[in-house]
Amino acid sequence: VLRHLADHGPISRPDLGDGVGLARATTSSTVNDLLRRGLVAEVSTMPAERRGRPTTLLDIDDTNYAVAGLDIAADRVYLALHSLRGRELLRVERPGDADVTNPRALLRRAATVLHEGLDVAESDGRKLLGVGVAVPGLVDASTGTVKYVPSLGWRNVALRTGVAEALGDRAPVLVDSDANFAALAERRSRLRAGTAASSLVYLSGTYGISAGIVAGGRLWCGHRGMAGEVGHLIVDPAGRRCECGRTGCFETKAGLVAVLDAALAGRKQGHATSASRIDEVVALAHSGNSNVIEALAEAGTWIGRGAAMVTALLDPHLVVLGGHYARLAPWMLETARTAFGDALLVTDADGPSLEVSSRGIWGATEGAALAVLMSIADGDRPLPD
Ligand SMILES: [Zn+2]
Repeated sequence: VLRHLADHGPISRPDLGDGVGLARATTSSTVNDLLRRGLVAEVSTMPAERRGRPTTLLDIDDTNYAVAGLDIAADRVYLALHSLRGRELLRVERPGDADVTNPRALLRRAATVLHEGLDVAESDGRKLLGVGVAVPGLVDASTGTVKYVPSLGWRNVALRTGVAEALGDRAPVLVDSDANFAALAERRSRLRAGTAASSLVYLSGTYGISAGIVAGGRLWCGHRGMAGEVGHLIVDPAGRRCECGRTGCFETKAGLVAVLDAALAGRKQGHATSASRIDEVVALAHSGNSNVIEALAEAGTWIGRGAAMVTALLDPHLVVLGGHYARLAPWMLETARTAFGDALLVTDADGPSLEVSSRGIWGATEGAALAVLMSIADGDRPLPD
């Protein structure tokens, strides 16, 4: 019932019952229990013709609880606090730690930001139901262990335990890749906008490239929970050496660092952060700098080829370019779509299509927060009293 409301609310009781396939009495008792727990709310809407009595519909509650999403990136920590209906209550962005390779140092930074979020939730009269933590790499979500994050140099980090300790066990913690979480957010925003979302692949254009795969309305995580790690597929064996130690990975062609390096080649570079380098690239592209525009177009071509590879494997309805790709898309999308179309064996009106996320770099925090609600809906953790 919670999942159906999260996807389709606000809806009437009969529509909810039909949607989840429960008998009227069962739906009613379940809804009453969720109303009592403050997870579901009744909302009144006037009929479209503005005559007659208002109708009472059901939706996820928007006032009692908060869910938090924390995104740990190579040079930034992002925190967003959301209502259960996905309304953003707070957004905080902080530089990471100079020593990102030390999980403890980065966790200390993250903990400060988290406590800030908790305080805001509490002063707003909301109970925090949990924290989703996103990292750009391979995660065993069942244990909350980060297996490998090349950009942070992390291997086998017990992140869930670390964050839970940093929080003083004030709320449950779940951990997954930024791409998986962002794919969930993309799905919900498309569902709520009434556009196609049953199968999509979200390509995270953050420090690395991972794919978040949604199939049949749910995340496809693979046998070990590590599906979608496309950034280190070797696409050019004669190419550059990658951070993972191999040569010619997809990330060396289309990853954020590679794109920025190519776009800013030959320019004087200080110890700028990725964020300020993106600003510089966007400004140069806007001013018509041909080297920058060419580099972005070339990166777009590689992204299109990569999108075609995942499409050949999964045949999704659409591939979404997320993260920082969203900002660079005005100069990459055209070549990406051309390369994508050229690499597909069959193209027809029904897609697949290559689109840009409207969530940008905040997709991962939004999805991480949403995942807390979904884990409760799926019975992975108990309902709050
Ligand atoms: Zn690699």
